[in-house]
Amino acid sequence: MSRTDSVACLHGVGPKTEKLFQKLGVYTVEDMLLAFPRDYRKIPGITDIREISAEREYAVNVRIEGTPVVKNTSRMQVLLARVSDGTGVMGAVWYRMPYLKNQLMAQRECILIGRVVYKNGRYEMEQPEILDRQKYQEMAEGLQPIYNLTKGITNRQYSKYVKLALQEAGGTDYLPLDIRRRHNLMAQSDALTRIHFPENMDQLVDARRRLVFDEFFLFLLQMQRFKEHTGRIPNHFPLEPDGFCERLLQKLPFTLTDAQLRALGELERDLEGADTMQRLLQGDVGSGKTILAFLLMARMAASGRQSAIMAPTEVLAKQHYDTFCQWMKQFELDFPVLLLTGALTAKQKREVYERIAQEENALIVGTHALIQEKVSYRNLALVVTDEQHRFGVRQRETFSDKGMEQPHVLVMSATPIPRTLAIILYGDLDISVVDELPARRLPIKNCVVGGQKRETSWNFIRGEVEKGHQAYIICPLVEADEDGDTELEDVVSYTKKVKKYLPGCSAAFLHGKMNNSEKNQIMEDFAAGKIQILVSTTVIEVGINVPNATVMMIENAQRFGLAQLHQLRGRVGRGDAQSYCIMINTSNNEGAQKRLDILNHSNDGFEIASKDLKMRGPGDFFGIRQSGMLEFRLADVYQDAGLLMLASDEAKEYISRSMENPDDADEMLEAELSRRYNLYEKRINL
Ligand code: ADP
Ligand code: MG
Repeated sequence: MSRTDSVACLHGVGPKTEKLFQKLGVYTVEDMLLAFPRDYRKIPGITDIREISAEREYAVNVRIEGTPVVKNTSRMQVLLARVSDGTGVMGAVWYRMPYLKNQLMAQRECILIGRVVYKNGRYEMEQPEILDRQKYQEMAEGLQPIYNLTKGITNRQYSKYVKLALQEAGGTDYLPLDIRRRHNLMAQSDALTRIHFPENMDQLVDARRRLVFDEFFLFLLQMQRFKEHTGRIPNHFPLEPDGFCERLLQKLPFTLTDAQLRALGELERDLEGADTMQRLLQGDVGSGKTILAFLLMARMAASGRQSAIMAPTEVLAKQHYDTFCQWMKQFELDFPVLLLTGALTAKQKREVYERIAQEENALIVGTHALIQEKVSYRNLALVVTDEQHRFGVRQRETFSDKGMEQPHVLVMSATPIPRTLAIILYGDLDISVVDELPARRLPIKNCVVGGQKRETSWNFIRGEVEKGHQAYIICPLVEADEDGDTELEDVVSYTKKVKKYLPGCSAAFLHGKMNNSEKNQIMEDFAAGKIQILVSTTVIEVGINVPNATVMMIENAQRFGLAQLHQLRGRVGRGDAQSYCIMINTSNNEGAQKRLDILNHSNDGFEIASKDLKMRGPGDFFGIRQSGMLEFRLADVYQDAGLLMLASDEAKEYISRSMENPDDADEMLEAELSRRYNLYEKRINL
C-alpha cells in the first residue's frame, strides 16, 4: 500500500467510514498520517479506592464483586457493577453497553479507567475503559493520542486506523541524509510513528522536531524557487502621480491614521515605480488595512485595469464585496465590483467569468475560486491576498500568474511576526507596517472568569443587546462529539442553551461545516442586525467586521492559542462604543490561567506573541497552536523560530548548490517537491 492510496484501502474502512474521514479532510493514507493528534493523554497511575474523590479521572485495579446487572430505564440500558480492591468498594456504570456484562463476568479482575462521581452516597466510576494488566502496562508507558473527531467515529477507532496506516504504508525519506545527520533529525517514518504514539515526552519532542523541520524546509524551498523565477520585474503598469487617492480621502467619513497614510504612500510609490510591487502589508487586527487595498484597487480601475482581492473564507469575501460596493457609492465612483466564490450557482459563476474576461476596470473580490483554471482575466494588474497567513506560497504564485503580465502583488496579514522572521518567511517581499489603531477606539475591556460566571456573562450580553449592540460567543466544537471531552462547549447545543436563557434575544449559530449559502445568510443577517447573538466556531476568526458588535465571549478559552484569541477579540472594538472580551477558562491548570492573563492585560498583538513565547515549555505545544499560520500543520513560527533559521540556512545552501551543479540536486527531494506541487494543483481545481 502506498501513502497516496485512499483511506478506503485500510482494512475495516468501508464506504461509511471513508465518508466520515473525508468530513475530517482525510482522503488518503497520507492525510491520515499528517492529521496529527490535537492533544495527548497520559493515563493515570493506579489509585487505591479509599483515596478517591469525586470529579476526577482514576485508574483502579479491581475485582468484580457478585454479578453485574443490566437495568432497563426508559431511555437506555444501564450496566451496573460493584468493584473492590481491598482498600474500598465502589460502583461502576456503563450506559448503552449491556454486552460488556459477559466480559466482566469472564474477566473478574481488571483495571478500570474513568471519571468518578459521587452519587447516592457512594463513589461511582462512569463509563470506564476495561483493560487487562498487560494492556494497561503498555498504555501507561506511552501517551495516548487524542484526535479531532466527527460524529460516528471514536478516538479508539481512529487510533486503530492510524496504527494500521503506519504499519502498512511504506514511504521513503525525502530529506537528504547529510541534512538529517547535521541536525540530528530522526527518519520520517519513525517521526510519524512517534508523533502518533509516543512512548514518552522526549520521543514526542524529537518526533515533532523532525516534522517541523520538514514543514519549514519544504516551504522555504518552494519560496526560494518562486523568488528565483520572479526576482525584480519591471513594472508593466506604471502610473503617474495623479492625486486620485487623495481626492477620495476627502470623502471618507474618517481620517486615516498616520500609519495608514505612511503605508498608503509606500504602496502608491510602488505602483508609480520602476519595479512591480511585491509587498507585505502588516498591521494588527482593526488597524484598517482593507481601505488601503480598496484605494489601490480603485486607482487601478481609474487607470482602466483590473485588480482582485482574495480572502481565505467565503464569509470574508462576501463581507469585502459588500464593503466595496458601499465605498463605491460613498466615493461616487462607478467601477464594476464583482464577487466570485464557490457559493455561487453554476449559472452565476458563468456570468462572473464572462464579466471577468471582459470588464477591464473591474474590482474583483473572491475566495480561492479566483485562482482556479477556469477564470481568465482581461487585464489583471494588481492582486491582493487578504489574511495571507492562511494561504501558502503556491497560492500566491498561482494568483499572480493569472495576469498576462506580472501583476503587482500585495499581501496583507494581521499576524505580528518579528521582522527577522518576516524576512525569512516572506523573503521575496518588501514590508510595510500599519502600527497604529484608529484614534477614536476605546481599548477593549477584558476579563478571564471560570464557568460559574457563565450566566452572569449571558446577563451582561443581554444588557448590551438591550442597548442595541450585538455579541459573539465562540465555542471550540461544532457538535458534541461522541466520546470526546464533554467539558468542551459546542455551538449547536450552546445556541439552544442561550436561546432558552435569553428568550428576548435572537441567536443563531455558524460553523465551518454548514454550507456556503447558509453561512452567508447568517453572516448577512448578523451584519444587518437581525441576529443579535452569534454563536460560532473560529470560522469568524479572520477579518470579520461588524462594528456594532461589542461583546466577544469565548468558551473554553484555554483551548485556543493566544494569537488566535487575539484575532477573535479583534472582532469587537471596531466601532465607537466600549467593547468587552469575556474569556471563560474551564480548566484548573495554572499555566492556562497565566497564558490567559497575558491577554487579559494586553491588547497589543505583538506584545502578546512575544510573552506567549517566553512562557512556553517544550511540552506545551499541542492544543495551543497559534492560529493556522501559513500552510504549517505543526510548526509555529514563534516557538520554532530556531528551527526556522536552521531550515532557512539549509534551504539556501541546497538551492545554491543545486543551481551551481544540477547533478547535486537530490532526486528524492525534488520528486517530493513536484509531487506536492501537483497535489496542490489538483486540490485547488477540485
Ligand atoms: P483590519 O486591518 O483588521 O483588516 P479593517 O480594515 O477591517 O481592519 O478595519 C476595521 C474597521 O475600522 C473598519 O470598519 C474600517 O472601516 C474602520 N477604519 C479603518 N481605518 C479607520 C480610521 N482611520 N479611522 C476610523 N475607522 C477606520
Ligand atoms: Mg482584515
